[in-house]
Amino acid sequence: MKKVLDFPYSNILVLGLAKSGTAVANLLLNHDKRVRINDMKTEKNDPIIKELRNLGAEVVVGSHPLSVLDGIEIIVKNPGIHYDNPIIVEARKRNIPVITEVEIAYMLAGDSIIGITGSNGKTTTTTLITKMLEESRRPVKVAGNIGVVACEVAENLEDEETLVLELSSFQLQGVEKFKPNIAVLLNIFEAHIDYHKTFDNYKQAKFNIFRNQTKEDFLVYNADDTIITSEVKNLKSTLVPFSIKNKMENGAWLDDTFIYFKNEKIISRNEIVLVGDHNLENILAAVAAAKLKGATNEGIIKVLTTFQGVRHRLQFVDNIHGRLFYNDSKATNILATQKALSSFEKPVILLAGGLDRGNEFDDLAPYLKNVKAMVVFGQTKDKLRRIAEENGISTILQVEDVKEAVSKAFEISNEKDVILLSPACASWDQYRTFEERGDMFIQAVHKLV
Ligand code: ADP
Repeated sequence: MKKVLDFPYSNILVLGLAKSGTAVANLLLNHDKRVRINDMKTEKNDPIIKELRNLGAEVVVGSHPLSVLDGIEIIVKNPGIHYDNPIIVEARKRNIPVITEVEIAYMLAGDSIIGITGSNGKTTTTTLITKMLEESRRPVKVAGNIGVVACEVAENLEDEETLVLELSSFQLQGVEKFKPNIAVLLNIFEAHIDYHKTFDNYKQAKFNIFRNQTKEDFLVYNADDTIITSEVKNLKSTLVPFSIKNKMENGAWLDDTFIYFKNEKIISRNEIVLVGDHNLENILAAVAAAKLKGATNEGIIKVLTTFQGVRHRLQFVDNIHGRLFYNDSKATNILATQKALSSFEKPVILLAGGLDRGNEFDDLAPYLKNVKAMVVFGQTKDKLRRIAEENGISTILQVEDVKEAVSKAFEISNEKDVILLSPACASWDQYRTFEERGDMFIQAVHKLV
């Protein structure tokens, strides 16, 4: 059933078309709003433009003339467009509000939203919560930064359905009244300074996830993150902390053997398929949010005993003759590979290499203790070979690509070894995307059988 849009503006500028702008324009036109679209890149005779014109939109493409602001009451901005864009600068001078499409999603979905943000772990946690609710037979849809336009899903949400929204800082910077009934704040590290200009701006954008919450709303937050704990003290929200370090009477926590929500045992830790301490944080956050929304312990256990990770993010691929294969192709920098290496106690054969950005790999050294062999490829292969040699790794193989890396790694492996693709580099020297690189890994692993 289509929802009624409670949006008190009639003349709207959609800035930036792409997938989300097109969806927003369509939605607003369907709700009888006057829509002007401005996009720099889209061609004049693009079929999408023709379609939107036929629906009644006014379209300006190829440039950003300030005249597109005339008569406009509000701008719905594509999250990717920076705030120093001349149109946005001028709009602020004219006091024209600037929002992103998640604000419209809120106007449609209201209290049905679980919103997830953080510098890292958003997709994993969003996926876990969605699956936990599905396995508990709670009606649920997922959208947002995970790759599905939020307002489009919100428009078709049934009354009893929950909308699980992954939210980036770019999306959250553009909200006014938006509030999730359950907000999840995972962690805050310094990131995206090119966009937000200062760390404080970035934090404030993230904090928009709870800014409008009332005591009927819940904030699930990382009690081990001091940037977060110092901010959440005086909020109206009902606070639900999670911690991998301390017992949380009102939230999610763990000891050496179990995961708990409040005083209830949820699952034994050795049954969980996901590896890595960072994933324990994501799991605790997901358990808290899912329990608040009525997930059953059976549903949660089903997910945690079967979910192998989001594709390309420390994803368990297969066990072949006792060798455990993990695909962490998303690890496009050293920090991510450090995280992956810290997740294993068993001997690791590390597959790494890719685009050379000019940096060295010395920061990997403290994490190479369990690495028994390294298979290197791509532009950075010599640099990685050097760091492996300096750290006493006796077996170092140089190969052409990920496919060859898999077969060579398999040849030199023993039972119980972990064979890990975690390249510490972007993929663009040899692959179009990290997904393409990860897919080659998965295919090569499956070919081994
Ligand atoms: P996002 O959607 O925020 O980019 P993902 O769930 O896709 O996060 O995970 C991306 C990478 O971030 C993972 O491969 C891992 O290296 C790291 N990561 C995931 N969760 C966390 C966490 N809770 N804390 C720190 N790093 C994390």
